[in-house]
Amino acid sequence: MKYISTRGAGPTGFTDILLEGLAPDGGLYVPETYPQLTADDVAGLKDILVGDGYPRFAAEVLALFIDDIPFTDLEAITRRAYTREKFGTDLIAPVDELEPGLWLGHLSQGPTAAFKDMAMQVLGQFFDYELGRRDQWMTILGATSGDTGSAAEYALLDANRVQVFMLSPLGRMTPFQRGQMYGINSPRIVNVTVPGSFDDCQDLVKAVNADPGFKERYRIGAVNSINWARLVSQVVYYISSLLQVADGGEVSFTVPSGNFGNICAGHVARMMGLPVSRLVCATNENNVLAEFFTTGVYRVRTSTETFVTSSPSMDISKASNFERFFFDLTGRDAGEVRHLFGEVVNHGGVIDIRDRPYATHPKDVYGFRTGVSTHADRVATIADVYARRGYLIDPHTADGVKVAREHLGPEPMIAMETALPVKFGAITREAIGRVPPMPARFAGVLDAGAHTVVCDQGAEQLKTIIAARSLFG
Ligand SMILES: *Cc1c(COP(=O)(O)O)cnc(C)c1O
Repeated sequence: MKYISTRGAGPTGFTDILLEGLAPDGGLYVPETYPQLTADDVAGLKDILVGDGYPRFAAEVLALFIDDIPFTDLEAITRRAYTREKFGTDLIAPVDELEPGLWLGHLSQGPTAAFKDMAMQVLGQFFDYELGRRDQWMTILGATSGDTGSAAEYALLDANRVQVFMLSPLGRMTPFQRGQMYGINSPRIVNVTVPGSFDDCQDLVKAVNADPGFKERYRIGAVNSINWARLVSQVVYYISSLLQVADGGEVSFTVPSGNFGNICAGHVARMMGLPVSRLVCATNENNVLAEFFTTGVYRVRTSTETFVTSSPSMDISKASNFERFFFDLTGRDAGEVRHLFGEVVNHGGVIDIRDRPYATHPKDVYGFRTGVSTHADRVATIADVYARRGYLIDPHTADGVKVAREHLGPEPMIAMETALPVKFGAITREAIGRVPPMPARFAGVLDAGAHTVVCDQGAEQLKTIIAARSLFG
């Protein structure tokens, strides 16, 4: 299996794109073709999921996309990534029925209580494995608004060939998110706090990456959601969730979306021939994606048009993974994607596909549906689900459940649970009058200490911090 860029580069092998991230032409890597599963293949996978459990199942699915890591090594990787110890359950990603026709796919049982653990735990193992094989090391430089940073740090905590510098906006994260990240006391994990917003953090990361000499010297890499290894790890739970619910027929998914990373894996699963009926993209007030799927116009927001909401992990100005979907939408036309994303979007333009020949596709835009959820919707949905079921959902999952209820059909609908409420106490209190209970495995998170360094003087200071603390360079 080889990978090509949405803008034309490649083909390249999996382990190369693993360490590379973005393609050299600025595009995103996708498989040359999607592996196809027959009904017999799907039945076989179900036997493995039920008989051997999630780690083995994950290795089987990953092996469909990865031919430059031996299967035994792949299985060792997934067995280290998905343990009962880290996820609190042998099922890893259980699914259960919330109300008639509507199921919850629990993706947030991992070490940092958000779905990002599902992919990041595998990514950490992949990095450790491949850097070991190549006898190399790497510096991960990233920015987080909350969930990505902690998921990355917990995933790379044991990866001895990786050092992490993670920028976070001072004072913008929830107490739980701060406690989890800043509580880590290891020279390989460096938390850098920035007075400002997530965008300010990202600008600093970009500025450091714009210095090729520095980047080369410290072997700076990234773990953001455009990394194909993260996406393919997410395909696994779409298939396992479907297999837990479907009775031979189709299922639909509703996914709380920001960067289009999670739901893009659902799209890939469907392209592999799995019986996925509709993919419903739920957004918060930052409705870039909802606007596209209702109007055919994709308009990236400026930072002043990007709202700070109570489902903060979906507060995006553009959907970083959208280009992958567009590649398929255009019939895999790299020239068209290069034009739209490399030129139009990069110059502040708007993508309008209404006059494009591919605008009407079978299953109208691949069967995507959409809906918007606001702060009032989140509060009402958290309160309602709690009153009916005694179950507390987090604000992002609430966006999903609100929109999922608007799209129920004859087939089962699975709403993806992307975080646990303990991460977002304030809105829970607003909805039900008290903060969520602290699960036993997170006891002590809030007073684990603050291991951070402040960067308030710009990119040169950030480089100085990296140089001074680097364990390798
Ligand atoms: C990251 C995140 C999302 C959005 O996922 P995308 O892949 O960016 O669409 C939703 N909910 C939670 C809790 C998250 O951490």
